[in-house]
Amino acid sequence: MGNVLAFIETTADGTPKPTAAEQIGAAATIGTPVAVVLGASADSANLAAGLGRLGAERVYVALAENSGTELGSAAVAALADAAKAFSPVAVLLPHTSDSKAVAGRLAVVARGAVAANAVGLRFDADEVIAQHSVFGGDYNTESTVEGGLMILTVRPGSIEKRAEPVAEPEVTVAPVSTAVAPGATIDDIEETAKPAGRPALRGAKAVVAGGRGIGSKEDFLLVEQLADSLGAAVGASRAAVDAGYVPQSYQVGQTGESVSPQLYIALGISGAIQHRAGMQTAKTIVAINKDEDAPIFEVADFGIVGDVFSVVPQLVEEIKSRRG
Ligand code: FAD
Repeated sequence: MGNVLAFIETTADGTPKPTAAEQIGAAATIGTPVAVVLGASADSANLAAGLGRLGAERVYVALAENSGTELGSAAVAALADAAKAFSPVAVLLPHTSDSKAVAGRLAVVARGAVAANAVGLRFDADEVIAQHSVFGGDYNTESTVEGGLMILTVRPGSIEKRAEPVAEPEVTVAPVSTAVAPGATIDDIEETAKPAGRPALRGAKAVVAGGRGIGSKEDFLLVEQLADSLGAAVGASRAAVDAGYVPQSYQVGQTGESVSPQLYIALGISGAIQHRAGMQTAKTIVAINKDEDAPIFEVADFGIVGDVFSVVPQLVEEIKSRRG
């Protein structure tokens, strides 16, 4: 089986982000997973052990001086170096704001092409095939790259397969060497505080999202209460974001996060195509809307025609009583 590079995003303190397991799992479905991570040589043993537990057979720790000062450049150079070292059949990155930009720049540097926002992968007749959910999830399409490096961004939460742990992955530690065009300069980094105990939207197993139908910032508490009763992340439509109910980081859809949770509950969301583009691959969709003709019901597995202010409190009470 050919090598497949899996780019590992890290937090400010160098810890692999939760997307790491999915990237390595996805790589294992089409070849031998090689985790590529930016780090310091002192941390390489720890990084390798952790990524090995997630199924990486090889770990490439790239040492970069500009990773804290220049947006994305170190990652582009590290992946270009690793591509030269391992001749991969494909390079996988999470479909996140940071990694999408890295994927595009890598395609220029490594003479490849990007298959964006894949929700599935397969290997067929010596070709890697990426599967995509397009036009708001109404169609499934497939793509591949001919004659160049295949670079894929994978939608977080869409690939469930996890790789078997590897006790002693083969480790390479190397300084980045490929020269890349300068990226944006980072002046300051501030981690946004995640509400205690609530999962992040990206990669969450369950999401409760509110739309303009919630009516106000104060009433958005209703969405949060249902989310907390289920241990779910909170999302929103763009109309709810534009109205100032929640920050933009909550937005689900074409110009927000793409999510593929097991459960997506839409409260007071009409189901515009741009919203559906970010949630239609959820495994089970529940919609509560007072308009029985709202397009969200076309994609919902379960729908309740009703007022969220009457239905949701009853739902929260019932969930709490069942959970004891
Ligand atoms: P509305 O369409 O106003 O729907 C509100 C719904 O709430 C209605 O269906 C109504 O029946 C229901 N309702 C009202 N009160 C109640 C109640 N008390 N109980 C129950 N139901 C109630 N949108 C996104 O979400 N994400 C994106 O990423 C995104 N990107 C876009 C990109 C572009 C280029 C463009 C042009 C648009 C984009 N949009 C996006 C906007 C999108 O087209 C819609 O305008 C938006 O999704 C509507 O949000 P909404 O469903 O909350 O609001």
